[in-house]
Amino acid sequence: MSFSLEKFEARLPKDIVKKGHAYFTGFLVEDLTRDGDRWQADVYGTSNYTVDVVIKEGEVVSWFCDCPYDWGPICKHVTAVFLCKEPPGASWKYWKNGLLIKTQGLIY
Ligand SMILES: [Zn+2]
Repeated sequence: MSFSLEKFEARLPKDIVKKGHAYFTGFLVEDLTRDGDRWQADVYGTSNYTVDVVIKEGEVVSWFCDCPYDWGPICKHVTAVFLCKEPPGASWKYWKNGLLIKTQGLIY
């Protein structure tokens, strides 16, 4: 299965999208790096999880998160990383040298 990054929210259960938004706007996605088509990030919540997604030409072709969620195809952590295609305002710096950088509290 692959799907468009632009339209992923329509493909996922509403509660997962909502939780992903909460993680994203709560700055719980840290250390997002982008190496070509591969995005990797640490997502903090009750625990710290590693997310790895591959996005080719706007299509999400694979995703991985090491959390134990198995009630659906995609967890809230992966959803939160998808949302990083649009940094949430002034608290983020835009893509720079392939990195999306959080300006609050992170050394970069
Ligand atoms: Zn997860």
